Amino acid sequence: MKIIIATQNPHKVEEIKEIANLYGYNNIEFLPIDKSLNFDPIEDGKTFEENSLIKAREANKLTGEYTLADDSGLCVEALNGEPGIHSARYADTPQARIDKLLDAIKTASNRNAKFVCAMTLINPQGEIECLSKGECHGEISTSQSGINGFGYDPVFIVKGTDKTMAEMSEEEKNKISHRSLALQKILQQVEIS
Ligand code: IMP
Repeated sequence: MKIIIATQNPHKVEEIKEIANLYGYNNIEFLPIDKSLNFDPIEDGKTFEENSLIKAREANKLTGEYTLADDSGLCVEALNGEPGIHSARYADTPQARIDKLLDAIKTASNRNAKFVCAMTLINPQGEIECLSKGECHGEISTSQSGINGFGYDPVFIVKGTDKTMAEMSEEEKNKISHRSLALQKILQQVEIS
């Protein structure tokens, strides 16, 4: 089975492949969407689910294949769920986004947060085959630590551990991450259908 991943981000494609391999789904071929198709959907949904659906639908229109899209972000309780779907655009650079977040909650006693990922799989006929959501709970640290991963990983302490996501190995993160949990549900659905 072939699934086109609705992203121009090669890092995301690799991560999805690694998670699928980790759980033994070696019979699925994941491919990035062809650059020449100019995949550039307007992500104007109000939720992670809506945005993942917009991206998967657009990729399906362009390819006519099975397409998989995700939309993810960080939701912070003290900020009423922000930056949420705006996580990628919260500030101009990865470091500026972390600095802005730490500053925004510097006086907050509640530092609870969660990473959320919604995923949508569309079949070649353009129908939704599966919609799933994964969450990874934790809290925002007061300073950054660790060099692995990306985005907000250096300030996100995973619940039940004393590590930030950036202090985890790729394999550790791929077992507990919001993207892994969402993808596992999609892969289980693909397997039984
Ligand atoms: P998108 O899903 O590509 O729209 O990206 C969402 C944004 O949320 C990313 O640019 C990151 O800032 C943040 N984000 C999503 N997943 C993670 C993660 O696993 N670690 C750190 N930051 C993340």
